[in-house]
Amino acid sequence: MDDLIRKSDKLSMVAQLAAGVAHEIRNPLTAIKGFLQLFQREREFNEQFLELVMEELERVEGIIYEYLTLAKPNHESTFQTLKLQPIVQKVMTLVETQSIMKNVQVDFEFEDVPTIYGSEKQLKQVFLNLLRNAIEAVEENGEITIRLLNHPENQICIQIEDNGCGIPKERIERLGEPFYSTKEKGTGLGLMVCYKIIEHHEGLVTIHSELGRGTKIDVILPEYSRTKQLLQQK
Ligand code: ADP
Ligand code: MG
Repeated sequence: MDDLIRKSDKLSMVAQLAAGVAHEIRNPLTAIKGFLQLFQREREFNEQFLELVMEELERVEGIIYEYLTLAKPNHESTFQTLKLQPIVQKVMTLVETQSIMKNVQVDFEFEDVPTIYGSEKQLKQVFLNLLRNAIEAVEENGEITIRLLNHPENQICIQIEDNGCGIPKERIERLGEPFYSTKEKGTGLGLMVCYKIIEHHEGLVTIHSELGRGTKIDVILPEYSRTKQLLQQK
């Protein structure tokens, strides 16, 4: 019986995800088709069109990556010993244009923390999603602080704090549900992807938020040998 329920749960999840992919990808594809039709008609090379087409294609790529991670959390996950500090720094560089354009200050405070065992590509995705959400949540001149901290029991905490719009209490528990988004162009998958990846790393994500004041998200990861041990037991 249990098995049956689990199977039907899985099936509806797959159906929901498939419908989601179709829906999400249709918009950027329609836009790309429109640009190309215009290009075909005008026969004129336009730098701006090209840029827009590229942007929409990147959007499609991003959406597919998110869905792949959800459907198969271990895809592209080569686990190795990792230092978190350079990973966070790389992700900060990735969002630099976005934060500069909005005049958002992003600070990084770090303690000397142990190495972890994980997938660089996946963890980058987690920090990228969280940092993007933070940038999207703050007003112009907003402030974001990323902290790398030692956490009890040989764990490490990566904390991302913003002074943005915050999340109403009743909505916090809905976070991580697929397709829950308050943004016009949001997929509502970013946080779900983060939860999945961190779970895959034997870690934990917690969210504290106050409406109108800001949000603090803690990603807790075990240090290297603990994750390795936990994964080997499976
Ligand atoms: P998306 O960013 O595509 O909307 P996410 O799963 O990343 O999807 O986030 C889901 C929703 O959670 C967002 O639409 C937003 O309402 C809320 N949210 C996430 N992070 C923050 C944050 N730092 N501050 C305020 N709201 C947030
Ligand atoms: Mg997001």
